[in-house]
Amino acid sequence: MAKSPKTTIDVAHSYAVRLMQHLVVPTFVIDPRRRVVIWNRACERLTGVAASEVIGTTKHWQAFYETKRPCLADLVALDRPEQLPEYYSEYAARGHNGLGFSAENWCVMPKLGSQLYLAIDAGPIHDEAGNLIAVVETLRDLTDQKRAETALKELATKDGLTGLSNRRSFDQMLMTEWARAQRTQKPLALLFVDVDHFKLFNDRHGHQTGDECLRAVAHVVSRHAVRPLDLAGRYGGEEFALILPDMSCDDACAIAEEIRCAVMALAIAHGADGAGDHVTLSVGVAGHVPGESDGGPDRLLGAADQALYAAKRLGRNRVICADRMLAEFVGLGRESLPVPAPTARKTA
Ligand code: GH3
Ligand code: MG
Ligand code: MG
Repeated sequence: MAKSPKTTIDVAHSYAVRLMQHLVVPTFVIDPRRRVVIWNRACERLTGVAASEVIGTTKHWQAFYETKRPCLADLVALDRPEQLPEYYSEYAARGHNGLGFSAENWCVMPKLGSQLYLAIDAGPIHDEAGNLIAVVETLRDLTDQKRAETALKELATKDGLTGLSNRRSFDQMLMTEWARAQRTQKPLALLFVDVDHFKLFNDRHGHQTGDECLRAVAHVVSRHAVRPLDLAGRYGGEEFALILPDMSCDDACAIAEEIRCAVMALAIAHGADGAGDHVTLSVGVAGHVPGESDGGPDRLLGAADQALYAAKRLGRNRVICADRMLAEFVGLGRESLPVPAPTARKTA
């Protein structure tokens, strides 16, 4: 006896459901009222949430997030591509009522107690009349890849010894901040911080203790990069640099002085002949509002470098501001003038 069309559809439907149940890809399906109709085994494994807990409810968000918010399938069901940026760090909408949305996001996964970085695809299913009958959401766990990517990025941008930005990423950030200051016409301040008599320190205490000293100094410098756009970097061996956007030279000098005092307060024993009892810093400070015709930040770098050179020439353990450098030398007599001037550093 031939099966009625209704029975054939039912069989096909139950086949589809069973197929989805055993699919290795974590998948769930919601109906147009956004109630869960399928929550497959792989989805149970991924989320730690059993199908029986969510089927027939609109609580699927609880498998991924701690506070109520839509999942990608909900945004597809509601046809709200404009809300993607609000909820996802990476996203793509493939057209209204078309192929659905893709997104990536860190999810809290309350049941698992560990965060996962998920790649999510949600696509609508329509009947012949074009009415929405379901939305299928599939998930891919990209946590390992994302962590590897983040670690690689860290490796490429951070200095291994101190954890500060390395020279390359520091130079990039300086270019970025320089361009921003050019646009906003706000001052950009730069500090060069150099450990005094560090070669003698190594000679006396050994390279390993030298490394510990550099870590301690780096920690102090980075503690003073408090605002979101401030950036501390390791500029060279025992030399650090600090970018302070939207800051006057005077305010930057005050921060430089705080850094110098904070390292003195650490009272790291030095004691080599020709050096003081404790490790000290010399700091050169420069600030500038970049004009439209100013090229890159080379002159700012050069000014901070010369100020640092002046701080060394004037006896170390001090902060010298590029703007007041000449006045400082005049106060100590012309013979101390830094001649020849050091060559300005070039950005990479
Ligand atoms: P100044 O007061 O004029 O700055 O003298 P200085 O001895 O600090 O400067 P100099 O440039 O002569 O020597 C810097 C020293 O820093 C030499 C180098 O061995 C040491 N150094 C550079 N990088 C590292 C590092 O990663 N670890 C250690 N322990 N020492 C380093
Ligand atoms: Mg030094
Ligand atoms: Mg140096």
